Amino acid sequence: MLLTMAALIAVGMAIYIVFPLLSAETAGGPLPLDVTVLSDLKRRRLVVYDNLKDLEFEFQSGKIAREDYEGMRTNYLGEAAGLMAATQDAELLKQDDAVVEREIAARRAQRKTPPKMEYTCAACGYENPLPVKFCGECGARIAGPRKKS
Ligand SMILES: [Zn+2]
Repeated sequence: MLLTMAALIAVGMAIYIVFPLLSAETAGGPLPLDVTVLSDLKRRRLVVYDNLKDLEFEFQSGKIAREDYEGMRTNYLGEAAGLMAATQDAELLKQDDAVVEREIAARRAQRKTPPKMEYTCAACGYENPLPVKFCGECGARIAGPRKKS
C-alpha cells in the first residue's frame, strides 16, 4: 500500500516535471513567421481552387459521374465563397488595426514634442519662430526660452 502510493507520487512528480517541458517544446516549435490569418486564408483558397481544377479534369476525362461532379463542385464553390468572405473580413479588420496603429503613433508623437518655447523679444515684441539669441527683428538680446504655460 505504502509502496504503491510512493510509486504513484513518483509517477505524478515525473509527469509534473516532464509535461511542461514537452508542451513548451511544442509551443516553441518552428512556426513560420509569415503565418497570418490572411496568408492562411489565401493558402486554403488556393487549395480549394486546386481541388476544383482536379475535379474539372477528372470530370472531363470521364472519371466522375455528373451528379457527383456537380455535388462536389457546389461544395468547393461554397467553400471558396466562404473563404473569400472571410478574407474580406480579415482585410477590413487589418485596415481597422492600421487606423488604430496610426492613431497610437500620432498620440505618441504628440506626447514626444517638447513644450513650445517662447522667443519673444522683450524690446520690440516680435515672436521669433526659431530658438535665437538675438531678435530677428530688432537685434536685441533674447533673454532665453521661456516655457509657455
Ligand atoms: Zn526685437
